[in-house]
Amino acid sequence: MADLVIRNGSVIDGTGAPARRADVAIDGDRIVEVGTVVAKGRREIDAEGQLVLPGWVDVHTHYDGQATWDPTMTPSSYHGVTTTVFGNCGVGFAPVAPGSEGFLINLMEGVEDIPGTALAEGIDFRWESFPQYLDALDAGRYTMDIGTQLPHGALRFYVMGERGAEHASTPTGDEIARMGRLVVEALEAGALGFSTSRTTKHRAKDGRPTPSLSAGDPELNGIAEAMATVGKGVLQCNSDFGPGEFEAMRRMVELSGRPLSLLLLQVDNAPDLWRQTLDQIHDAQAAGLDMVGQVGVRPIGVLMGLDASVHFFVQHPSYQEIRHLPLAERVARLRTDDALRSRLLAERPTGAFGEWMDRALRRTFELGPEMDYEPAPEQAIAARAARDGVDPWALALDLLLADDGRALLLHPFENYTHGDLEVVRTMLADPYTICGLGDAGAHVATICDASSPTFLLRHWGRDRTRGERFLLEFLVHKQTAKTARFYGLADRGVLAPGYRADVNVIDFDALELGRPELHYDLPAGGKRLVQKASGYRHTFCAGVEVSTAGELTGAFPGRLLRGAQATPA
Ligand SMILES: [Zn+2]
Repeated sequence: MADLVIRNGSVIDGTGAPARRADVAIDGDRIVEVGTVVAKGRREIDAEGQLVLPGWVDVHTHYDGQATWDPTMTPSSYHGVTTTVFGNCGVGFAPVAPGSEGFLINLMEGVEDIPGTALAEGIDFRWESFPQYLDALDAGRYTMDIGTQLPHGALRFYVMGERGAEHASTPTGDEIARMGRLVVEALEAGALGFSTSRTTKHRAKDGRPTPSLSAGDPELNGIAEAMATVGKGVLQCNSDFGPGEFEAMRRMVELSGRPLSLLLLQVDNAPDLWRQTLDQIHDAQAAGLDMVGQVGVRPIGVLMGLDASVHFFVQHPSYQEIRHLPLAERVARLRTDDALRSRLLAERPTGAFGEWMDRALRRTFELGPEMDYEPAPEQAIAARAARDGVDPWALALDLLLADDGRALLLHPFENYTHGDLEVVRTMLADPYTICGLGDAGAHVATICDASSPTFLLRHWGRDRTRGERFLLEFLVHKQTAKTARFYGLADRGVLAPGYRADVNVIDFDALELGRPELHYDLPAGGKRLVQKASGYRHTFCAGVEVSTAGELTGAFPGRLLRGAQATPA
């Protein structure tokens, strides 16, 4: 007798095959039957009218620190994610020489906008080497399976010390050889890959560019050659794609023989560069090199709010006078104190931030109750103000004050040059892209894109009105089997006998994103945006129910994944 039979659902199995009405039987942590299941299960769920799909696989998160203090892996666990991979973008917390923990915290705080105080209080550094970090993670139990990658920033600082963060010096041959040995050691112990960052956008909290930014060919190639000797693991890279950058990444794939994913997004100052990079990816694939773009499912930007990290007035001198006040008092003052309000609106801070905010008025939108992440340009604050004949700053202030000051404004700055998500549609449709870029666990008080899988299904499968949508089967494949396989996790992402019993039961008609809310629940009282969802009826990880009707059950069946997982026999 199977432990569980989920009956009569519309099964989308993750392979891209058409949805079909079927039952799914689960025994222990495995799926044992998909079809017409005759025998009764110990537990039965009637999924009539609901979707039954594999648990989501999110390969781009930054739970490196959070996983050591919080087994619930929220917000991802509110969104049907059953496998998460962190250690992305070259940042993380191992290896770490005793006494240099602060450097890695400073780096994570700067690059990924996770409060350093939360990391310092939350992480109990009981490791030095990467294998010891894996052992520490392995001792924990989680709502979902977790996997991680060796981050280049930490590796470089560990091997080169301060020189590793200076960019003036290059590693010696011995240091490159040592980096290679440590990469091998990490992969042998179960790291899923190696990640690096080559973007000037990534800076430590102290302002220094991320350590791996200036890594040259000898270092990159040395690491790639070391990976070739073990024949394990993926490569992940974040780059600005300056001259020679793609070639450097391609060379790493040639030398290592390992698959590589590059972050692919549209930037305003070179809006067609992503297309060029995608063409280069196609050329590489034609030459037998497994390179893919890791793409987002919606615009990338910030959420502005009075309690979030950023909003239009955060640097106005008059706002500085009241920013320490509790939200309710700030809202009351801004609503009733006319003198304060006039001063605030008259002030225009100069410098880069002021200029950014001035520009941002033309591309910032009310998120609104519909959680519209593809708003039309005419809905931008500046456009609305022009139509209504009002000051755009005054409108911005009123919108921030809505909902007792808890309203959030969406300011997209990537993937949104043309004011819609057509570029994202093209990226998603491409056979050589995988879903990623949600950055769950990072940028905690400016975005909450941990909800990307929910958005993918809801927007691209149901709600989009400003262009074409996709078949659900395609979307599910993209966020399950496709990403899982790229990372070598061939035992999941498919609903078929022998596969892991990671399953979502979703009331598709009721699937909605909740409103992102600020929670002060990080260590040391750190704040973060948390977005929930409705419509997830049941989420199972390894056959254990981890979430019911959007709330966590408190079960922790998730484990550390050590290395690739084999396809079920
Ligand atoms: Zn990242």
